[in-house]
Amino acid sequence: MILHKKIGIIGCGVNGLSVAYLLQKKGYHVSVISKHHPFNDSIDPAFASLFPAASVIPHSVSGQNIEELFNTSQAFFNELHQASFPGLSVFRHYELFADPKELPWYKRSMDDFLTLKDFENDFYPTHPDIKVRSGWKFNCFFADWKLYYPALFKKVFADNATLTIRALSADDISSLPFDILINCGGLEGAELFGDDDNLLYRGHLLSILDAPKLKGNNDQTISYNFSPGKDIYATLDGIPQDVYCYSRNDGWVFGGSRQKGVLDAQGNWCGDKTAEPRQDLDGISFPAAILDLNAAIIENSFGIRVQDFPKRAVKVAYRFVRSAENGLRLDAEEKFGKQIIHNYGHGGAGVTLSWGCAKKIIELIES
Ligand SMILES: Cc1cc2nc3c(=O)[nH]c(=O)nc-3n(C[C@H](O)[C@H](O)[C@H](O)COP(=O)(O)OP(=O)(O)OC[C@H]3O[C@@H](n4cnc5c(N)ncnc54)[C@H](O)[C@@H]3O)c2cc1C
Repeated sequence: MILHKKIGIIGCGVNGLSVAYLLQKKGYHVSVISKHHPFNDSIDPAFASLFPAASVIPHSVSGQNIEELFNTSQAFFNELHQASFPGLSVFRHYELFADPKELPWYKRSMDDFLTLKDFENDFYPTHPDIKVRSGWKFNCFFADWKLYYPALFKKVFADNATLTIRALSADDISSLPFDILINCGGLEGAELFGDDDNLLYRGHLLSILDAPKLKGNNDQTISYNFSPGKDIYATLDGIPQDVYCYSRNDGWVFGGSRQKGVLDAQGNWCGDKTAEPRQDLDGISFPAAILDLNAAIIENSFGIRVQDFPKRAVKVAYRFVRSAENGLRLDAEEKFGKQIIHNYGHGGAGVTLSWGCAKKIIELIES
């Protein structure tokens, strides 16, 4: 009987917890092993679940069946939203480009997706000097991370799941007391099983604390991603970047950098960097465009001055994206005498795909 199989999960990031949550609902007893405690340990930039801006949009991810995983995930986010799960909201989200841009595949999956046509008269967040030439809007789930992630953690461990804080090495795997081991260990989880595809996208985040939610005409909360073109904001290697602003209960999250690279043996960043101009914020070399473009858009579109909100927090962290040929890994193998199910490499969409991946894992276990 499959319910009697002993199941272990490596990692208590959003993917480990989402799998644990669904397994528990199905009646399985679940043990989670994690190198870090998400709320007690110092912040490791490779522990991606401490950082997501947490839009539910399949950005910066590749791999097989992403559309199916995304649709399943969205359907479950919808159920959670109906059930008032802490921190989940729906915003009217805009994706805006200074250059012509093809419609994204996910237009089929988004509620009330509309292409912007009348750039003179329609409402959309605008920069005073950079014209938007293409764009669209849709209703989008957002997870307010300071509410959503602790609530998920609490739900999983309030029941009978156990959490052990332990850094596993490859030598430990064969002696773990589980029949099935689900690897939600992110970058290090891949390394544990000999996967050396370690490509990352580094991201910078700036929280503007105490700022009010951005509101549109009919009181809907507005969020946006804005791509100003590569002459205005790009990495040193010339990769065009976008900036975004997402509202949270305690203010705004500004972000947008996606710099390609890897970590060396000492954990130092080797890869693309922020192009000039940069700002030094709390000792972090930060792309000035993230603050400057967002400040101009918000003042121009919502009449709010960013400088009126001086309480800020800066972070830099890594999205484990893997190379485009590999992308998200969601499959099973026998290794170290155990059945292993891998679930990593979600890039910039680990929250977005979390429920789709978790449901797929249940299918794999039950088949
Ligand atoms: C700046 C930034 C912005 C982002 N914005 C978004 C967004 O808007 N929307 C979105 O969907 N996604 C976003 N993401 C991506 C998202 O955060 C990640 O995809 C997601 O958090 C990955 O979660 P995970 O559970 O797979 O891995 P992780 O969160 O990395 O968790 C890995 C777990 O494995 C454990 N572990 C590692 N090694 C070992 C070991 N040796 N032994 C035991 N345990 C181990 C760790 O302690 C941890 O518990 C963003 C990421 C960043 C960095």
